[in-house]
Amino acid sequence: QAKLAGKNRIHVFDAVLDNGIRLRNESLERISAALNDREFVLYYQPKVNMRTGTVVGVEALIRWQHPERGLLAPAEFLPLVDDHPLSIDLGEWVINTALTQIDAWRALGLDMAVSVNIGACQLQRPDFVMRLRDILAHHPLVNPSHLELEILETSALADIKQISDLIEACAQFKVGFALDDFGTGYSSLTYLRRLPVKMIKIDQSFVRNMLEDPEDLPILQSVISLASAFKREVIAEGVETVGQGSMLMMLGCDLAQGYGIARPMPASDLPTWVRSWKPDPAWYSASGQHPARDSVRLV
Ligand code: C2E
Ligand code: MG
Ligand code: MG
Ligand code: MG
Repeated sequence: QAKLAGKNRIHVFDAVLDNGIRLRNESLERISAALNDREFVLYYQPKVNMRTGTVVGVEALIRWQHPERGLLAPAEFLPLVDDHPLSIDLGEWVINTALTQIDAWRALGLDMAVSVNIGACQLQRPDFVMRLRDILAHHPLVNPSHLELEILETSALADIKQISDLIEACAQFKVGFALDDFGTGYSSLTYLRRLPVKMIKIDQSFVRNMLEDPEDLPILQSVISLASAFKREVIAEGVETVGQGSMLMMLGCDLAQGYGIARPMPASDLPTWVRSWKPDPAWYSASGQHPARDSVRLV
């Protein structure tokens, strides 16, 4: 290969490149068809208050119910649409579906707030706020404060002034924001001051080994006290065990999300789950807290 003449080498690279572009175009066509054929579905993962026993909302997580390959996680297809206009269509489908679902749950007597992940590309569109208003206008029965948007710390930092203006514009019509995967973006913590997000989501990488790796604790502690100093809510992601939950409570973190509470589930499973959920008593015995009685928020 190294002996290929310059010209031939370029042909080889062209062929590889062509092949890559062809594959990507095929994938994009396939995803576009899947959107039309309603093969995408949202799963919902509960977010709870461990102290009061309240279900504070759910996070919508996209899945592709692929006819041959089964249920696909976002990592298997979202990177393919990244920075392609199709990601806008998919993103708007997610918001629309979440709003429709809020309405459907409300009709069943379940008053549920839903957070939706917003990709960097979607967020950076100049008409993002206008499009969001339009979508909300198509769901007149949904209280916009039931919609929360999760943005990655890394995409918020791309242009902090622009993003904070956008967050303030959305606050005008009661849509709030959360900063997702917090702590992974290598940003200065003081940036938080300039981002009017209501909620900080501590990335699961800090929770995963928190009981074994003593260096995770001061990080968790700093983020929790920073959030409280700035009057933001804070939620720990990836809580899998009672040990993690009770330690987080001791550190002052009230909200949690993770397999230890519930896995992401189809919309139809949620009402039953909400009605039967009780905080694990071991959380309180380990952290010296007391469970609250009323664990379900119903209309
Ligand atoms: P994320 O927003 O940080 O979502 C949390 C991810 O962690 C989800 O993976 C969830 O299933 C998983 N998870 C929750 N609890 C636990 C736990 O206890 N242990 C472990 N190991 N994992 C847990 P998922 O659904 O595969 O989504 C991955 C990422 O894909 C999301 O990370 C989010 O950035 C992105 N994503 C998901 N749905 C959408 C969407 O509709 N639009 C956009 N733009 N991105 C999405
Ligand atoms: Mg998220
Ligand atoms: Mg996250
Ligand atoms: Mg993530």
